[in-house]
Amino acid sequence: MNKKSILSNLPSVDELLNDDKITDLIDEVPRKLVVNSIRGCLQNYRSKILNMKEQELENFQVDTDELIGSIIQGSKQFISMNLRKVINATGVVLHTNLGRALLSDEIKEEVWSVASGYSNLELNVATGKRGSRYSHVVEIIKYLTGAEDALVVNNNAAAVMLVLSTMAKEKEVVVSRGELVEIGGSFRVPDVMEQSGAKLVDVGTTNKTHLWDYEKALGEDTAALLKVHTSNYKILGFTEAVPLKDLVTLGRKNNVPVIEDLGSGVLVDLQKYGLTYEPTVQESVALGVDVVTFSGDKLLGGPQAGIIVGNKHWIDQMKKNPLTRAFRIDKLTMAALEATLKLYLDEEEMMEKIPTLKMLTESITSLAERAQKLYSILSSVGLSIEIKEDFSQVGGGSLPLEKLPTKVIAIKPSHLSVSRLEEKLRNYRIPIITRIQEDQLIIDLRTIKEEDYGVINEALKDAIGV
Ligand SMILES: *Cc1c(COP(=O)(O)O)cnc(C)c1O
Repeated sequence: MNKKSILSNLPSVDELLNDDKITDLIDEVPRKLVVNSIRGCLQNYRSKILNMKEQELENFQVDTDELIGSIIQGSKQFISMNLRKVINATGVVLHTNLGRALLSDEIKEEVWSVASGYSNLELNVATGKRGSRYSHVVEIIKYLTGAEDALVVNNNAAAVMLVLSTMAKEKEVVVSRGELVEIGGSFRVPDVMEQSGAKLVDVGTTNKTHLWDYEKALGEDTAALLKVHTSNYKILGFTEAVPLKDLVTLGRKNNVPVIEDLGSGVLVDLQKYGLTYEPTVQESVALGVDVVTFSGDKLLGGPQAGIIVGNKHWIDQMKKNPLTRAFRIDKLTMAALEATLKLYLDEEEMMEKIPTLKMLTESITSLAERAQKLYSILSSVGLSIEIKEDFSQVGGGSLPLEKLPTKVIAIKPSHLSVSRLEEKLRNYRIPIITRIQEDQLIIDLRTIKEEDYGVINEALKDAIGV
């Protein structure tokens, strides 16, 4: 058959609309959308035919059932949520591609009541006058960090940009060559500085920067000294960086403010819980850094946000910068951030109720117990599985060298390849994201919840066809 006659055998839009399966579909999906899907699928089918080679055309027949199948699938997919829950079985706690920090179940009501109802977002209830959206978190951030004032924007990249634009536009900012960080995507410290209008003066070398390197760079045009916490890498070996304390002293002596981009922004000393030391926001404030910026959704365990703390004088100036409006956070973020910060008021509560901190500090005994439980559930699937020791990662560009001992379920499928199994789980109704290691599929207990065990079981059975 030639292409033309095959194409003329394709059903019309009207014929398809009269098919029983499609009329059933219209009970579920708006008609207009179904028509749109029919047109799209017909178009794809036409292109497929037009691209066929002579031999393929010989016995080809239009498969109306296949066409209808793709119309139904396409329409249903269109109305279902594309952004949805996945199960993170990778063990990477702050997984940027999977949404970084998880919010606490504890704060559901606070967030939803602000989201679904009117709120005092910019109303001072006591006076009846206009209020500031930032006021809701300023006092608690001051209390937790010891800072004089605070401001919150969309994310830490925006925070850095706002700070530099306010304090150093058309002026110089001195930064160590060892701290010119790229943190994935397109966020590079030098690029952000350029966008802010500040002029970067990089000093020292990749592995060593001395106080006198900063000192030599100071001049009439110096607006600030910048320290960037290299939270996603470590330079090891023959290295030297200037301690924050000395940088602050140098700044004071020369009347130049010191800015620190802390990145992760942890509020608890993680050493107490057996993790590597990570500088806290409180320490930087106590050392006299003028302005500190950090993320809301890294180690802090809150929503995506950039938090700026420091001298009131500088924060006041930032509030007048038009970028503050452009970078402003919405009420959902504000509610989630305030509610998360409230959990920090009680140290025990904080470790228990902030998922990021809880996952990072879960004991190996508890992980082993959970592994045993999942193992028992999965042992009925009929796959070769075992419990193994492994390491989880913190992720999110935080504590890059930290290897958290964990327990994993390792699976070796027999009738399909490991990569096919990984793909099937990833494409399950609730996608399950795993990793492959030494030809085994690895499910790390640290980042999965007990309520997900059932789904993992179903997905595995589905994948191997039992
Ligand atoms: C992560 C990070 C940022 C960017 O923070 P976001 O909240 O992702 O915008 C900036 N600086 C450092 C040092 C970081 O680690």
